[in-house]
Amino acid sequence: MTEPTDLTSSLLAEARALAPELAALRHDLHRIPELGLDLPLTQARLLEALEGLGLEVTTGTGLSSVTAVLRGARPGPAVLLRGDMDALPVTEDSGEAFTSEHEGLMHACGHDLHVAGLVGAARLLASRREDIAGAVVLMFQPGEEGQHGARVMIDEGVLDAAGERVVAAYGVHVISSLVPTGAVTGRPGTAMAAADQMYVRVHGRGGHGSTPHLAADPVTAAAEIVLALQTAVTRQFDAHDPVVVSVGRLAAGTIDNVIPETAELDATIRTFSPEHHAVVPERLTRVVEHVAAAHGLTAEVDYVRGYPVTVNDADELERAARLTRTVIGPDAWLPAPRPVSGAEDFSYVLEQVPGAYVFVGATPAGVDPATAPYNHAAQARFDDDALPVSAALLAALALDRLAEG
Ligand SMILES: [Zn+2]
Repeated sequence: MTEPTDLTSSLLAEARALAPELAALRHDLHRIPELGLDLPLTQARLLEALEGLGLEVTTGTGLSSVTAVLRGARPGPAVLLRGDMDALPVTEDSGEAFTSEHEGLMHACGHDLHVAGLVGAARLLASRREDIAGAVVLMFQPGEEGQHGARVMIDEGVLDAAGERVVAAYGVHVISSLVPTGAVTGRPGTAMAAADQMYVRVHGRGGHGSTPHLAADPVTAAAEIVLALQTAVTRQFDAHDPVVVSVGRLAAGTIDNVIPETAELDATIRTFSPEHHAVVPERLTRVVEHVAAAHGLTAEVDYVRGYPVTVNDADELERAARLTRTVIGPDAWLPAPRPVSGAEDFSYVLEQVPGAYVFVGATPAGVDPATAPYNHAAQARFDDDALPVSAALLAALALDRLAEG
């Protein structure tokens, strides 16, 4: 491996010089948040920002993605850098001067910074083309907030966009609280949870509340299912590899003295290992069906697979930690003691190629990270100073990995 400092030493200073331009791009995107897989305005603004960089740009067919390939002066492997682009159905209350102009929509998860940060990385890499042996695939992805956009882009060939399979993949996520701006945090192995959903309908037989023995009560069965799920979590899964089940919706009946025909419950299920993610649907479905059966009822279970566990490759995570210290600052790396319970569809990429996904602090200056509004809050604010940090770190990851050959 070549000395990383040869390639990466001036990255942060260069990224800071680009900061006003990146912030302007971010503010433009922030004003025009769009949802899901179809982000035409965002895509158009991004394509404009990538002009003149000498990239091979293609756009998606099933979604408004942008894939841009940057080729170095010499042959070598390909690596992937990813930024997601979609917003959330949140009415903005951040007080920012560049607040959303789209009613009911907001870049409340900072994906506008992800686009601008990755454009910054593209500019840094484009100016070093002569030093690069290999290619960098820039993956600008719609539909992270539940629409499986990364999987769609994989299906459309993003991992092979350079003409060969990428050997590594990297991404960053900004956070509006908990971590000060400029700090980078992450952990080897599980970085983020898998998130599934379970929709249950318990079928009974309605009747008069005074004579439950003549009916088949779905309400008591549903109540027992809620508790049995919690028991299953603690009895069927290793406590050191947790499973979280939360029933967020429970609904039945219309009035106190009528036993309804059905009861419904909806749950979110978080797992932190691919092993538990693999077995959790069957185990929870069994509990639901058999508790219902124990009382002479039936239960219909619609178990929906969400995003898989996001798993960082240990060596690639170590690369991210090392480059954070050398490129961003000696104290900038904060090892994360635990995974995040949220889920992320970059997990689909990391299932296919080794890589690292880390968090970049973006708590606004002068705000206590401990109490700042968190990502997805209508009040969430993200510090533009996270942009040069993201850009420099992403560029450094690509350069350092490509230097290995
Ligand atoms: Zn996000």
